[in-house]
Amino acid sequence: MKNNPEVVVIGAGFAGISAALYLQRAKFNVTLLESHYRPGGCASFYKRGRFRFDTGATTLSGMQPGRPVRELLEMAELSPRMFDADPGITVHLQGKVIRLGKYFENTLAELKNAFPEIHSAKFWQKLFNIDRDAFKILKLLPAPPASLREAISFIPSLSFKALQLAVKMLLPARFALSKQQRESKVFLQFLDQLTIISLQNYFSSSPWLSAALGVIYPHDMMIPEGGPGYLAEQLLEVFERRGGKLKYKTQVSQIQKSESGFTVLSQKGEHFSAEQIVITAPVWNAKDFFDLDRDNFSKTIFKKLNRYANKFKPYWGAFTFNFAATGKFPTGCYHQVHTDNTLSFGGDSIFITFSHPEDKMKAPEGTRTVTISTHTELENWTNISEEETLYRRQLLANQIKILFMKHFPETQFLKFEHNATPQTFLNFTNRYKGSVGGIPHRAFEFHRMPSSVLHKSGIYLAGDTAFPGQGIVSVIHSGKRAADLICKSMKSR
Ligand SMILES: Cc1cc2nc3c(=O)[nH]c(=O)nc-3n(C[C@H](O)[C@H](O)[C@H](O)COP(=O)(O)OP(=O)(O)OC[C@H]3O[C@@H](n4cnc5c(N)ncnc54)[C@H](O)[C@@H]3O)c2cc1C
Repeated sequence: MKNNPEVVVIGAGFAGISAALYLQRAKFNVTLLESHYRPGGCASFYKRGRFRFDTGATTLSGMQPGRPVRELLEMAELSPRMFDADPGITVHLQGKVIRLGKYFENTLAELKNAFPEIHSAKFWQKLFNIDRDAFKILKLLPAPPASLREAISFIPSLSFKALQLAVKMLLPARFALSKQQRESKVFLQFLDQLTIISLQNYFSSSPWLSAALGVIYPHDMMIPEGGPGYLAEQLLEVFERRGGKLKYKTQVSQIQKSESGFTVLSQKGEHFSAEQIVITAPVWNAKDFFDLDRDNFSKTIFKKLNRYANKFKPYWGAFTFNFAATGKFPTGCYHQVHTDNTLSFGGDSIFITFSHPEDKMKAPEGTRTVTISTHTELENWTNISEEETLYRRQLLANQIKILFMKHFPETQFLKFEHNATPQTFLNFTNRYKGSVGGIPHRAFEFHRMPSSVLHKSGIYLAGDTAFPGQGIVSVIHSGKRAADLICKSMKSR
């Protein structure tokens, strides 16, 4: 491998941060370009007075030994302060309160209590086992495979257990359900709202393996001090200390082939040379980096990205609502409240995050920040007048407020009420139409998902629209996967 080749990573969300740090460890000269003035993307933050609010992501999973977040922190030699999350998520569903916690036995007892007629310890054990083994298998069977040939080449080295898991990536999770479970509306609703927040898809039609991870993840959660956005800042401090170049307010507008590799152009007219590129902006944005009329190379890549963009249409956006609170707070920082169709333009549940009582970075003593998010269809916010946007925004915020007060009557609103629509996400992350969550996992589709290798000459994809996508843990994995592929390709030159 040549000495210190140049790599440009586009986007300082968790995928870009992960790719940049792993490439830096492999001795590449890494430049990380970010359009916003701060890092984190969908897992960023903003400050008001003495409060620090999460803009999107609030939970952090993948912290157990050998899992992607833990490995990234170890590689960065970073031990950020984290608080224990037990219960992980408390679900409020039709009068039931179900605490999904750190310990399997406790979670089983909660589930038995909530669903006595259809509870099956065997079913949950199955999901736990898949979750336990999946990350081990990822080390033997890197996802996504760079090509069908690479996928096939792994098969002889796989154990029977690994092969079984690989099959579970293809089959829908409904195969895991008993007839009784499939027929219970309330049980399905419970599972669906867990996978909709983790996989952007309903349980039954998600791949069995992803669905298991999506339902079980509350047992592997920690609460990062200052929120995920602060974790992003700490990781980037390491990146810069180790010699990485980080440029904020640098929006990439085009990528061109050059004699020595590629030239990355910013909207401000800056040029960056690179032998290798990792794109973490969604595929819907990335296609516009390539000028269809420029040359055959640009045309080929544009067409490939356009195929992805047409195959996987952006669908979900997020509506978020933040405020500073005082009064009494419930046990547990994370709550999912089912909405029972009470929200106009919102989803079937709201996810509520109370900052940890000891997290003084987020809120001063006696107060906490509250972040509420719900899924919303992008269609609800496109092609409507400003007046209509304002109306929908206020209506949804009020409905969320009422729901919140019903479930947490002792918590009082203090100040800084602020809500965000997909348009807000568009303004701050550039993501196409403000779409978030990436490409939903669907059974029978995993082999069609965007691969990390966009073009063998040195352009790679990571982030929530590259398989395995979605959630901080997955995009960190995808960033590492892109870095691994680059290392492999450079060694073979
Ligand atoms: C409301 C909400 C709640 C969520 N909750 C959780 C949660 O609790 N736990 C969890 O694990 N996940 C959660 N997620 C998902 C998680 O936030 C994302 O999956 C993850 O942060 C995506 O990371 P990424 O790096 O792929 O993309 P992004 O975070 O979108 O990062 C991409 C970056 O690229 C930058 N960029 C875009 N275009 C350009 C350009 N042209 N030039 C330069 N830079 C560019 C953007 O500004 C952005 O910083 C949530 C998401 C939302 C929206």
